Amino acid sequence: MDSIMSGVTRFRCEVFPNQQQLYQRLVREGQQPQALVISCADSRVAPELITQSGPGDLFVTRNVGNIVPPFSQANGGVSSAIEYAVDALKVRDIVVCGHSDCGAMKALLSPGSLDSMPNVTAWLRHSHAARQVIESAYPADLDPDQKAAALAQENVLFQINHLRSHPSVAAALARGELTLHGWFFDLTSGDILALDGDSGFRRVATGQPLPVAVRPAERRVANTFFLHAAE
Ligand SMILES: [Zn+2]
Repeated sequence: MDSIMSGVTRFRCEVFPNQQQLYQRLVREGQQPQALVISCADSRVAPELITQSGPGDLFVTRNVGNIVPPFSQANGGVSSAIEYAVDALKVRDIVVCGHSDCGAMKALLSPGSLDSMPNVTAWLRHSHAARQVIESAYPADLDPDQKAAALAQENVLFQINHLRSHPSVAAALARGELTLHGWFFDLTSGDILALDGDSGFRRVATGQPLPVAVRPAERRVANTFFLHAAE
C-alpha cells in the first residue's frame, strides 16, 4: 500500500490544486459525463487513461469480463449504473470495453480453473453464448492467445445485445438519443478496435469516423404502424 498512499498524498498536494476549480464547478453544476463505460475490472484497463479523460467526463462501471447481465427483475450493480446513466445523466453513448489477455476470457476457455470460485463461475455464464460461438464456429487451430482475443471480441458483441434488453437503453435508442459502442483494447499495441455494426472490429484512427456498434434508431416501429394505419 505504500505506493498507493504516496499517490494519495501526491494527488492532494500536487494534482488537486490545479484541478480544484474544475472539481468545484462539477460540484456546483453537477456531473454531465459524456459516456457510460462498462469495462473489465482488470488493473491494466483503465478507461480514463486509455481515453485520456478527466474528472466528470466518464461514468464508469467495471466488473470481471465487462459483462452486462440481460435485463431481469433481479437488482444488480451494472443494471443500476445503466439505468442511472441513461435516465438521470442522459449520457449519449455507452461503451462496452473488452481487452486482450483477459483473465475472465481465459478462464471461460478452461472452466476447471474456476472450481474454487463459485461466484465468478456463475457470473461468467453471461458469456457462455460467446464461448459456444468460439468453440463451434471458429477455426479449431487458433492458438490460446488468438482464441482468448476472439472470445473477448465475441463477448463484447453479446454484452451489447444484453444492453439492448434494458428498458432505459431500448427507449433511448428508439428516441434516437443513444449510440452503443463495442471496444477491444489491445494491451500489447495500445490500439483500440471498435465494433462496426455487424462487420467486425476496426482500429480507431484519428481523422477516420468512429466505428459504431448500434446507431440510434432512425425511425420507430410505431411510426411505421401509424404510417400504414393512415393509408
Ligand atoms: Zn478482463
